[in-house]
Amino acid sequence: MNSKIYLSPPHMSGQESDFISEAFKTNWVAPLGPNVDEFEKQVAALAGVKAAVAVNSGTAAIHLALSLLDISAGDKVFCSSLTFVASANPILYQGAEPVFIDSEPETWNMSPAALARAMEEAAVRNKLPKAVIVVNLYGQSARMDEILQICDTYEVPLIEDAAESIGSTYKGKPSGGFGRFGIFSFNGNKIITTSGGGMLVSDDENAIKKARFFATQARDNAPYYQHSQMGYNYRMSNVLAGIGIAQMQVLELRVAARRKIYSRYAKELGNMPGISFMPELAQTKSNRWLTALTVDENLTGISASQIVNSLSKNNIEARQVWKPLHLQPLFEGRAYYSHSNEEDIAKTLFDTGICLPSGSNLAEDEQTRVITQVKTALQTKVADHVVL
Ligand SMILES: *Cc1c(COP(=O)(O)O)cnc(C)c1O
Repeated sequence: MNSKIYLSPPHMSGQESDFISEAFKTNWVAPLGPNVDEFEKQVAALAGVKAAVAVNSGTAAIHLALSLLDISAGDKVFCSSLTFVASANPILYQGAEPVFIDSEPETWNMSPAALARAMEEAAVRNKLPKAVIVVNLYGQSARMDEILQICDTYEVPLIEDAAESIGSTYKGKPSGGFGRFGIFSFNGNKIITTSGGGMLVSDDENAIKKARFFATQARDNAPYYQHSQMGYNYRMSNVLAGIGIAQMQVLELRVAARRKIYSRYAKELGNMPGISFMPELAQTKSNRWLTALTVDENLTGISASQIVNSLSKNNIEARQVWKPLHLQPLFEGRAYYSHSNEEDIAKTLFDTGICLPSGSNLAEDEQTRVITQVKTALQTKVADHVVL
């Protein structure tokens, strides 16, 4: 049996242990320390913003953003539907109400048309959302100009969930720096990882200072442990931040490797009947965290989930595109605005989309195995297509 091919496994540079050793040598094992400060500085610079706070997950970063925006019970928060559940769970932590917004076909991200309709209705009811959470799916930036314009019109702050899009750009500007807040994730399956971790970034230095305070149990400036407000234990440890610094050194290489894998898949599978790859919007650069494609079953005779199963039987981990949040049992009955009356783009992408193994350490012969297996699943004459 061939060895298992994973969807997006961690990819260490080898330099991580230097920073970890240094943390141990200097006994900076506890939370905070020089690695944390340095990692925060580097990520803020990368996102083109003034400040950043390192936390123990991307989810914690979203939660802090919502809490800084004073979102509480009864408030509405608009959120992309086609995303991982972590984008919306913090809305529930605050007792607020998520309203889900559909995708549009060219970015697979938040539809400006659906967002505009949701805002118009909310304005008529005199109940505007307290924030909009926009997701940059699989590394592709959403239509930021249009989305920011709508948010500005209604004076609603934007939170950019850039968990999957570190190193991507939109019109030359780095992902993560567009909203009032941006968040990154360094979970094990992301482009770069600290094993687990996240970052909250913003141009508002004061807000980041507050986030740091809330992430450290909201400890007052007193000679004893005094607390006037409720806080969280969300800080990243100095050991893990060391891994993050080493990973930042190779971010560009990791993005290049993932884009190359996408190009190979697209070249070898792109002209198979019924297969379309996730587009890249003009003037944007996606880090191609995961290579995603859609399957037109009328032309292929096989569905997306059948292809995933066939790969799985051959020890290859592929996944269907995220199941949209408006279709999740957890969010049953929540409001949803589709791209148009006729089209639920997020649902169509879930029904037809798959993500192929895309790790930056995926060897060429492993790529060949994936390509061969997809072709086999498509019931084509393998010999005619495979490049050995
Ligand atoms: C991974 C991810 C998160 C959450 O990050 P964690 O570090 O795992 O908490 C949030 N949003 C999206 C879109 C993600 O892919």
